[in-house]
Amino acid sequence: MTAPADTAPGGVTPAIVPRPEHRISRANISPGALKVLYGLKEAGYRACLVGGGVRDLLLGREPKDFDVATDAHPEEIKAVFRSCRLIGRRFRLAHVRFGREIIEVATFRARHQDGDGEGALNEEGRILRDNVYGDIEEDAFRRDFTVNALYYDIADFSVVDYVGGLADLEAGVLRLIGDPEQRYREDPVRMLRAVRFAAKLGFRIHADTEAPLSELGHLLEDVPAARLFEEILKLFLGGCALATFELLRHYDLFRYLFPLTEAALAREEQGFPLVLVGKALENTDIRLAEDKPVTPAFLYAALLWEPVRQRAAELEAEGAGPLEAIQIAGNQVTSEQVQHTSLPKRFSYPMREIWMLQPRLERRRGKAPYRTLEHPRFRAAYDFLLLRAACGEAPQELADWWTDFQELNPREREAVVEKAPPGRKRRPRRRRRRKPAGGADA
Ligand code: ATP
Ligand code: MG
Repeated sequence: MTAPADTAPGGVTPAIVPRPEHRISRANISPGALKVLYGLKEAGYRACLVGGGVRDLLLGREPKDFDVATDAHPEEIKAVFRSCRLIGRRFRLAHVRFGREIIEVATFRARHQDGDGEGALNEEGRILRDNVYGDIEEDAFRRDFTVNALYYDIADFSVVDYVGGLADLEAGVLRLIGDPEQRYREDPVRMLRAVRFAAKLGFRIHADTEAPLSELGHLLEDVPAARLFEEILKLFLGGCALATFELLRHYDLFRYLFPLTEAALAREEQGFPLVLVGKALENTDIRLAEDKPVTPAFLYAALLWEPVRQRAAELEAEGAGPLEAIQIAGNQVTSEQVQHTSLPKRFSYPMREIWMLQPRLERRRGKAPYRTLEHPRFRAAYDFLLLRAACGEAPQELADWWTDFQELNPREREAVVEKAPPGRKRRPRRRRRRKPAGGADA
């Protein structure tokens, strides 16, 4: 077996940890990733596992997915695997599919300074296109954090480290490769990744990597809303949502993702809005830990509830009815939010249903509760009511009523409906002023 040829122009000698001296075993690598690694190797290419897969295996954690890096170019990768699709323009990648598993295969890349066709930066230094190929050493230096730039080489099962990632992994330190400010300017999403990995791995962010975080948040404003949405899912559906949220607020990055929420939370720093968001994120983490399904719709419903609630209250004060107020407020908040982070309709629609069902859950007389119970989004809306009640923002009595109502038989239900309090009239401070017809916009 030949030693890896690391004679790149940069001439950095990597630390190479041979197989017996590290804990990565092929038994812990997914069958698909192994097929890709061996397939490329047999076709004469260099193939390494890289990124989170190597990092997590070295930490004894179960990787979320496996990424492969190779010196084969995308078309060459495609020629090796039948089930390969080339994707991405900004960052061209090969996806190799084995049943349900998809392995991402990236060609080694070099960092680039300016636009020469395949690589492009904008005036602020942000990477617009990143398809300049290079060798493994260049590839290591263009990665984000040192602990993400470790390679497991299928040729000899060694771990290859150009950037001091092994030492940082050992010390629990998250450190950007190169000049942090420049690296954040190249790609502001790296700020969110810093927070995400710090929360997930329980790592300390190195002082130099941390310093620019609180100042460069505004760069996120230029990141396409769709990319931010993808990143938000990783931030809040990765199992460490609460810790991530706290760090995002600590570095003042949260406002660039959810500006309306940040404004509402800032107004009530210790109040139930913060508790509600915190509890929703905590519940998400617990559900994920128990392998229960979670939906971005519920998460977004919770994250945006406070701005929706405040706006709906204003609309009601101006005379709108409760249902109308929630509907208008929900639409306004949604359309403002999607300018910052996009939210596909398949999530925004159920999110608004969860909101709109909140005032409906207050109607417990006559046919209304039966209709509400039949609503396809009842379960999520009821869970949302429980959350609100747990934070003191909705009456616990109302939440308990619905808990009981679901359990009762039809005769018993009739009985409790007859005795139910008549919705909103119980609220003392509510003044109803009818708006002229068509005055629903506010
Ligand atoms: P996980 O998959 O557990 O979320 P990961 O580190 O594998 O973490 P991915 O988004 O899968 O993260 O990316 C794989 C690797 O690609 C990273 O480890 C890193 O080396 C590199 N990478 C990803 N995004 C960037 C980026 N924005 N800038 C530089 N390198 C990146
Ligand atoms: Mg990964």
